[in-house]
Amino acid sequence: MTTGADRRPFIAGNWKMNLDHLQAIALVQKLAWTLKDAAYDPKGVEVAVFPPFTDLRSVQTLIDADRFDLAFGAQDLSPKDSGAYTGDISGAFLKALDCSYVLVGHSERRQGHGETDEVVNAKVLAAVRHGLVPVICVGETEAELEQHGTSAVPVAQTKAALAGVAAGTPVVVAYEPVWAIGTGKVATPETAQEVGAAIRAAIAEALTEEDAAATRILYGGSVKSGNIAGFLRQPDVDGALVGGASLDPTEFAGIARFPKHVGV
Ligand code: PEP
Repeated sequence: MTTGADRRPFIAGNWKMNLDHLQAIALVQKLAWTLKDAAYDPKGVEVAVFPPFTDLRSVQTLIDADRFDLAFGAQDLSPKDSGAYTGDISGAFLKALDCSYVLVGHSERRQGHGETDEVVNAKVLAAVRHGLVPVICVGETEAELEQHGTSAVPVAQTKAALAGVAAGTPVVVAYEPVWAIGTGKVATPETAQEVGAAIRAAIAEALTEEDAAATRILYGGSVKSGNIAGFLRQPDVDGALVGGASLDPTEFAGIARFPKHVGV
């Protein structure tokens, strides 16, 4: 049975709609050098960046040519595989660019683009069909927190996202309270643990106990190098999804080097 100690911590940087392909190259180079200078150990932490679609080819070429120990993924994908869907991007195209991961159901997609639980589920299934690991984003708004309490919405969103997913399929789940994204407000490590444990139980119900034990659960919402340690000390928090702070390579590298300050 997989245990928490077997889950490789994951630090993921969501660039959102920032940085063109030239700026992307500069950031990835600086990030890789900063991590190297800091003697970052990729065996102990997986670091990934999620640039805009238009940067992916440049990021892929750079990481491949310079053999950087960085993973990368896209911020969204189409639920469809190909055809008359103007503006959409197929998971097949992302896989052809060597993306390992794809964000699905980020709150900015749920809120700004009307993505329902059904759409998120269709996107998760599309990611899996194309051999991409979906990073499924779940989280409650402030109003939902008041109405339903801490874990209800993230648990319901996790179960909905995993409908029809086969046992043994690798996924990542990111708990991102909507009220904490880009606001400077942070959930407490204790809340992140409570929700992380509830999400893990939901994965066990939707898939299997073994899947639940193997799945990495991230916290996201105003994570910085100064507050990451508290989250990563929690047994059911296996990493972070980082927005704003991932645009600063020094700060992001500081987050990726969390084991140093967690003292584990
Ligand atoms: C995010 O966009 O996923 C996020 C967590 O943003 P920030 O770190 O800026 O709150």
